[in-house]
Amino acid sequence: MRSFRTLYLYLHYIGFFVYLFSGRTRFSVSFHSESPIFFMVIVIICFLMMIFYAKACESPGYVTESPPNTEGLFYCEICGLHCPVRACHCKECGKCIIRRDHHCPWTGHCIGRDNHRDFLIYVYFEAILTLLVFIDIASTLLISLPFMEYMKRNFFLLSIISPMGFALFMSSSLVLSHTRMAMVNATVWEMSRWDSITYLKEFPKFYFPFNRGVINNIKEFLSMKMKKTTWEYPKLPVSEVTNLFQNELYKPYNDIIYSVMNKNNEA
Ligand SMILES: [Zn+2]
Ligand SMILES: [Zn+2]
Repeated sequence: MRSFRTLYLYLHYIGFFVYLFSGRTRFSVSFHSESPIFFMVIVIICFLMMIFYAKACESPGYVTESPPNTEGLFYCEICGLHCPVRACHCKECGKCIIRRDHHCPWTGHCIGRDNHRDFLIYVYFEAILTLLVFIDIASTLLISLPFMEYMKRNFFLLSIISPMGFALFMSSSLVLSHTRMAMVNATVWEMSRWDSITYLKEFPKFYFPFNRGVINNIKEFLSMKMKKTTWEYPKLPVSEVTNLFQNELYKPYNDIIYSVMNKNNEA
């Protein structure tokens, strides 16, 4: 299955290049303008995309030792280590990953603290590129022809627009969901396993305890690899608690918040 995905990934890169160097007007009578700027933009994005894809395939940041203070931390029996807050074990990788987001079948690795930024940049390029090529192909397709003539004239363009459409759908969904998570400082793993994660389950659902405002979250997201960022066991700041109490939405969670506050005060 993984080899199929990798094959698809490389085939769609090849698709971009075939498309670029094929001289599209030969397949069409619409004489779509061959803009050199458009051509250069596509080539540059292709190269940047490959660079960031390679970077996204690098180490996600593995847990190699237990943190100094292991109190309340999850102990991974397979690795024989305590996991820092936000880290967890990946069955496919066979290791614990720092700030694990998800296991990515397209890279064959986990996405974690050290490659999440590059992964998202790659996905952005992928979305921009597929969107540009998709629009360009769609505008070059010949319409108002009898079916057989339509298929004959558009065969080449139709054969590359389908994988391009799939890539556009996949990449734009990833762009939207991962940008949103970067903005609130959350991960796929945290969102999907909220109720079973020790440091999250006592918080109201989707009250993101690592959220420090959009600007700070984005800064942290972009620099966490370089700074080797670590996270503390989350505690609810007093100002946040006041805001929560004033918010009708969180009324049902008041008891939970009280219990978290009491625990924090005891600590
Ligand atoms: Zn582990
Ligand atoms: Zn993994």
